[in-house]
Amino acid sequence: MRSITSFDLQYAHRFYGFRGEAQYLHGHTGVMTIEVEDSVNEGVNMVFPCNEIRKTAWSVLQNFDHALVLREDDPLLPAILGVYKEQGILNGHPQNKMKGEAFKTDLATAYPDARLVVTKETMTVEGMIKIVYDLLKDKLNIAKITFTSGVNAASCDFSDRKEIDRCPLCGIALNEEGVCVKCGYRK
Ligand SMILES: [Zn+2]
Ligand SMILES: [Zn+2]
Repeated sequence: MRSITSFDLQYAHRFYGFRGEAQYLHGHTGVMTIEVEDSVNEGVNMVFPCNEIRKTAWSVLQNFDHALVLREDDPLLPAILGVYKEQGILNGHPQNKMKGEAFKTDLATAYPDARLVVTKETMTVEGMIKIVYDLLKDKLNIAKITFTSGVNAASCDFSDRKEIDRCPLCGIALNEEGVCVKCGYRK
């Protein structure tokens, strides 16, 4: 069975070098749906608590919300960095509080202080699914990710499921010692 959670993301991007309107900087509200698959945890009668999927995924996804996503070779990148620097907001601002945890993978690097994500490949809906799966695959048993942005949508199924021990009392993943950090249950 699956537990399913959706997220709204407001972001700006462009397809650098693309022969079409999308080569111009523009914005979207994207909707990402993450489906977590496992057996039903009998203790709590759910696969995985959706608020826990939300918490885990949002720590990563927040980096894309109210953010600019640019490819690493896009000449807009140094231009934007220059303006942010001149304005004194490149390394954060007291009102820039709703930030995710910085990350760096082979596919993307997040700079939450500048609300910027720099990607290796163009950030299409397909590209976004690759980036997010790579960031969350070890934390959640993701069976499917769907991403919709404007008239574009993509989805991908994943089958390399791990064994994640879950707390029979509150449903969250147990830590390496077999302890639930939320309620103190011990395996
Ligand atoms: Zn777009
Ligand atoms: Zn628990």
